[in-house]
Amino acid sequence: MNNLTINDLYFSDVATKLDHARNLNALYGSGLKKNKKLSAQLEQLQELAMAMRAQMAGMAMFQRCSQCGSRPEGGCCSLYMANETDAIQLLINLLLGQDVSFQRDDDFECYFLGEQGCSLLCKPFFCLNYNCLEILERAESHELRALEKATGALLQAQYGAEMLILEWLKVTSQ
Ligand code: SF4
Repeated sequence: MNNLTINDLYFSDVATKLDHARNLNALYGSGLKKNKKLSAQLEQLQELAMAMRAQMAGMAMFQRCSQCGSRPEGGCCSLYMANETDAIQLLINLLLGQDVSFQRDDDFECYFLGEQGCSLLCKPFFCLNYNCLEILERAESHELRALEKATGALLQAQYGAEMLILEWLKVTSQ
């Protein structure tokens, strides 16, 4: 895998994981996109991520997360949570044409928290699965059901893309 280990990809500090993602994209991005199975998976992932984004926007989650993030005590998207990202997931964002640059570097909030909420299209599994009490209490039950459904489909698609990429990288670099 271009001499990279699973440890490098998943357990380095965030800036290093981002560097690995950018390097992998530069080296293998076009080859990965030519892989038919992966490109179909990425297409499906993009549709599901957009559907998830629409669901979250419909529930005003982006405004709520940004409002919480701007309070002195911060919100859920803390700097600690940025560690939930990994190089393959950041690479998937790059393959989807999503900007993955740091939105802030304030020793407080997650690097990827922008003014409109999370800037990543493909988010860490933990972030996708987590909903704070504020969201849970304010949402209608049908909204929560729709959110859960969208989350499940997206997680599955992300996992599928991740496995295909790891397989492709391993085979290519042998
Ligand atoms: S990756 Fe996105 S959702 Fe997760 S903590 Fe950072 S800004 Fe929040």
